[in-house]
Amino acid sequence: MPEGPEIRRAAQAVHRGIAGQPVRMTLAHPALAPMERALRGASVESVSARSKAMLTRFSTGDVLYSHNQLYGEWVVDRPDEPLRTRAIRLVLETSAQRAVLYSATDFAWLRHGKEAVHPYIAKLGPEVLDDATTARDIAVRLAQFPRRRIADALLDQQVLAGLGNYLRSEIAFVAKLNPWRRLGELGDAERHRLAKAVHDITHRSFRTDGVCVPMALYRAQRQQGASFEAARFFVFDRAQLPCRDCGAIIERATLGGRKLFVCIACQGVFPLPDELRH
Ligand SMILES: [Zn+2]
Repeated sequence: MPEGPEIRRAAQAVHRGIAGQPVRMTLAHPALAPMERALRGASVESVSARSKAMLTRFSTGDVLYSHNQLYGEWVVDRPDEPLRTRAIRLVLETSAQRAVLYSATDFAWLRHGKEAVHPYIAKLGPEVLDDATTARDIAVRLAQFPRRRIADALLDQQVLAGLGNYLRSEIAFVAKLNPWRRLGELGDAERHRLAKAVHDITHRSFRTDGVCVPMALYRAQRQQGASFEAARFFVFDRAQLPCRDCGAIIERATLGGRKLFVCIACQGVFPLPDELRH
């Protein structure tokens, strides 16, 4: 499932493609169709991300909430290109660009300024990728959940919005912290280190289209023939490969039903949790 950086990039692409111009609209899903008359002649003012949901604001003050779940996808292309053979939910088209939402199933109509009435949005924690959210804000937020394990807190959109599964492994590694530890066990310096990693790695992934390691390291690997997937992470999906920092073997566990990757040496994963006993 796409994580915060991927959703935000998709929102930016749709916004750049169609916002502020007259738009032709096809509302193909039964949950959307009743608004077709009210939106006739309207334009799209903005498209933004909130955690893993997208908010499309129309000039009428109406806001479309859409959540892609597992299969939904926005595609921005030219109006003369063939549509894909998938379930079309929504088409927003200007003379030069077209944004199509395929396969999503979760929609709601909201009013501008009242988006927080939606139960998903109402529960979200601070948005990590918002410009106003600092590493210090993230540290304060993390301190409010002392009983949560690091690995669980980093996946919970109610703690922090916009993270996901590859980011949790990468963040815990960069912070050099054992993801099985509870937030309340961390000292101030450790909590700030974790908060800084949350902020920096998520922003880096957003800026670089999903690269979590420093760009110089990424480029050096690509020049040696590594694929995008093999080069972009510190630990995620690198089980049994050597740690980029210390050379120890990266381990894989399943935690909270999702895969988690750690360097036992760099992250001090002692005593060994049950999920890592072979
Ligand atoms: Zn290591």
